[in-house]
Amino acid sequence: MKKTLLLLIGLSVQSCNAQTSFDLAEIRNEITTEETRAILFTLAHDDMKGRDTNSGGFYQAAAFVTNYFETHGIQPFYPAYRDSLVTDSLTAYNLVGRIGDYDPNRKTILLGAHLDHIGIKDVEGDQIFNGANDNATGSTAVLQISRYLAQHQWKQNIVVALFADEEKGLKGAYHLAERMKNEKVELAYMVNFEMIGSTLTTGENQVYITGYKLSNMANEMNAISENFIQFLPQAKEYNLFKRSDNYAFYQAFDVPAQTLSSFDFKNYDFYHKAGDEAEKLDVENMNQIIGTAAFTLANLLKNDSAIEMNLPE
Ligand SMILES: [Zn+2]
Repeated sequence: MKKTLLLLIGLSVQSCNAQTSFDLAEIRNEITTEETRAILFTLAHDDMKGRDTNSGGFYQAAAFVTNYFETHGIQPFYPAYRDSLVTDSLTAYNLVGRIGDYDPNRKTILLGAHLDHIGIKDVEGDQIFNGANDNATGSTAVLQISRYLAQHQWKQNIVVALFADEEKGLKGAYHLAERMKNEKVELAYMVNFEMIGSTLTTGENQVYITGYKLSNMANEMNAISENFIQFLPQAKEYNLFKRSDNYAFYQAFDVPAQTLSSFDFKNYDFYHKAGDEAEKLDVENMNQIIGTAAFTLANLLKNDSAIEMNLPE
């Protein structure tokens, strides 16, 4: 508790020197539940055919993201935002944007979420696997946070990525991680968003982080937004750290690359089921999480906080 208070005082002092100060209430006005709902319901609509390359729905979702980036001032990191790869003889692409200019001499922060899901399956009843929680919610978070961050200037490179083919084995993330490594991007850390549409059993406006003890990310985030980041024992038990796109960046760069999620195995029954639909999600709470994440990241960036790996225990 004491340490948190000291850190908060430290932050408020630093904010006097910064050009911009961040106000959580202002961010909550900026990132509204209505917009969050609109993006989520679009990405999880039956028209998006489960956002897979096989069903073709992935390309529609990608077109939506491209349009969103163009509309909200997020620049292409690669031409037409696309980092292309081929999985099972189908071309897919990560959509990669940047906020402001890219300077190779500056450090880079990456925000990401997988856009794809598992498409359409030949089963009884509902055949469209909408993947609302997995991972239209995380994609919505990255879009909303990007739009917010794009309204400000930063001293770091901020790159944002919506990954393809996560469901086929983190293929998109591995492809982008390798490419960025080859291009000598100075990645400082990566924050990934997965399944934030159901309320964590421990409380509202909370997420857990995978690889909690691997870095100081949880502590640094909680110093800004108290109790936002929780430790979930099952995340460690099931090794969730290795089960989403963050892992590809940890492997390639050996820097903190971790996932924020609110799916705790007790609060949502539709994981990888056709019933994973937007109507079942708590959009109010999800929007709270997105606003808190935007606020937390904005302050980490403003303070140029060092997010570092912890030494092994
Ligand atoms: Zn997922």
